[in-house]
Amino acid sequence: MGSSKKKGQQRKAAAKRAQSAETMASSIINSSVSSGDAISGGSNSKIVAKVRRGNNYATKKLSFTSQFNRFRAAEMLAERGFRNLSYEQSGILSIVLDFLNWCEDDTFHQVVSSVGGDLKSPASWIDILVSACIAEPGCTLQIVENISPLVRCMCNDTERQLFKSNKHWKQGIVSFVNLITNVTEYNVYEDKKVIVEALLQHEGLLTSIVQWGCWKDHRPDIVKELKSEGITVNVIAKICNNATGMVEWLIDGTELLEKESKYQLLDTIGTASVISKEYNTSCMVSYTYGLVRGLHAVAEMARPLTTEEESRRDTLFSIIQSLILHGVSIITDMIDLGLNYAPKYTFALNVTVLSFRMTQGTIENELRLNADSPSDTRIATAIRAGLIEMCLGFIEQFEKHESFKSDELLSMHGLIRSIFKSISKVSLHQKTAKAIRHQKGSIVEKLMQVHITNKSESKKLLEMVRSILDMNGSYCCRCNKSLSRTEVKLCNGCGCMTYCSSECQRDDWLNGHKLSCCTQFTDDKSGQFQGTVIPILDNARAAAKLHEIEININMIQLKLFLDHSETILSQASSLDIPLYDCIVKFELRHCPPTIEVKKYTEFYDNFDEQMLGFVDSRSRDNIICVYYSQIYSGELKDCVAIQRLFPHEWIMKQNK
Ligand SMILES: [Zn+2]
Ligand SMILES: [Zn+2]
Repeated sequence: MGSSKKKGQQRKAAAKRAQSAETMASSIINSSVSSGDAISGGSNSKIVAKVRRGNNYATKKLSFTSQFNRFRAAEMLAERGFRNLSYEQSGILSIVLDFLNWCEDDTFHQVVSSVGGDLKSPASWIDILVSACIAEPGCTLQIVENISPLVRCMCNDTERQLFKSNKHWKQGIVSFVNLITNVTEYNVYEDKKVIVEALLQHEGLLTSIVQWGCWKDHRPDIVKELKSEGITVNVIAKICNNATGMVEWLIDGTELLEKESKYQLLDTIGTASVISKEYNTSCMVSYTYGLVRGLHAVAEMARPLTTEEESRRDTLFSIIQSLILHGVSIITDMIDLGLNYAPKYTFALNVTVLSFRMTQGTIENELRLNADSPSDTRIATAIRAGLIEMCLGFIEQFEKHESFKSDELLSMHGLIRSIFKSISKVSLHQKTAKAIRHQKGSIVEKLMQVHITNKSESKKLLEMVRSILDMNGSYCCRCNKSLSRTEVKLCNGCGCMTYCSSECQRDDWLNGHKLSCCTQFTDDKSGQFQGTVIPILDNARAAAKLHEIEININMIQLKLFLDHSETILSQASSLDIPLYDCIVKFELRHCPPTIEVKKYTEFYDNFDEQMLGFVDSRSRDNIICVYYSQIYSGELKDCVAIQRLFPHEWIMKQNK
């Protein structure tokens, strides 16, 4: 809907409300007269009429700027001469909402003089909304749903115009922040879900709330202006604190929301730029990033933290935790924090929790440690930022801590293990593989420096890192020569096999690749096919991803085969079957990978078409290897199985 149409509708609604307020006010007057309660009813109706006429004295008398609370509201109103006054019932609320609905189109003078009033500042109207909200929480929703023009004016912190005046904006902002604070954080009476959903309807309000929290540090222009209006630094600091409180309140309620609203809320907050783009177009600092900077600031403090600072730190952690999947850009900064400032176990543990969650690609899995949704992009970013080195540092620093390997799932040991597992799951994916190669030198260096005790759990973690590095290399898939990335030559046909030279390429072509290059697996040639058996993908993006995974796996197949020749031969001999009856299963989904030799009849179902094809088509000179891995691509998560054949003599030669 166009905004002018929207405005038109709102105006009509406002006119309607004004009308109904009028009838309500007159009915109150009539009823109070007829009931004979002339004293209170009479004075209340007089004040309503005065507010309607824009009377300064009456309007200010009805707005309480401090010390007002729900339980004393009636009493405090009575002290000012109003008995049994309800903002909503009397029509005051509607009158004020109607006045404020003109804040985009008319000047304050035009509005006030049209009713013959002498009101000094529109802030008094906003103060009445605040008072109404406090005294009668039941009208909160009515307020939230009927302040769109006001929200648009007050949230536009570039133009900063209320009733077309900058002065009125300055006068109104404290009251407006106060209003939103009372609608959100301080409101414990109304149905939170309903309020949050109503707030979400105001485009830009959430972002503004985030930005209020940063005014003190990032908006010298606004601070200067507010000071010029006599607003003290303390009040500005209070705006910032209230804003943080509101964000916490909002995030805290996300569980109540429908999935869509929840994501909309977290996304808006998590990615909100800390200062408005109109003020500084180049500033891309997200709210989450700002929070992480806040953690940095706390961590950098040399002195011990006060209780207040500690609780502030924990709050920051918990907000970041809720937002982490919505602010990917902070991965680097979070890891930097872990690398440089994690002197205490609990602090390091928090960084580890957040690091783990950042590596996961879907929100559903964010809390489950056995989550199986590692994201190639996120993990690659984290590795380049030093995720693995950070974890190695934590192992060394905290392995002696009493809780390092507690039974809890959230122990440092459990978390680091989950991180390494996630890395290993995508270590053959394009971006992560590249990142590991890029970071290899630094990781190897850290591995050599790390001193650990003899504890097997620490050793196992280091073993996982070695395995990840080990699996990440470039080799000729014919002669197993180690290659630099630029030396790799790919088969022109399938673009999947890696060679050191045209000699190796030709050898491989003549010894089996010719039969498999650019063809798909079929059961009848299962004994001689080399390449991907499953999955077959029709999704182009996933297929491209699979292709990259395939190259990375093909490069290390021969190396894995030769490195484990002893295991393979001993397992085969304990099965007491000839090598050509064996199928070697490499489980690359494990970290480190596991190897299992099976008789082909055990591997296939006895009546399987694939097994019949295997028997018919196999050569007795080769041993069949199948490499299992996993593909993660968006929503897709599938097992990958790639088959290769190696001559018996290669493994025998290796074990002479
Ligand atoms: Zn070669
Ligand atoms: Zn090929």
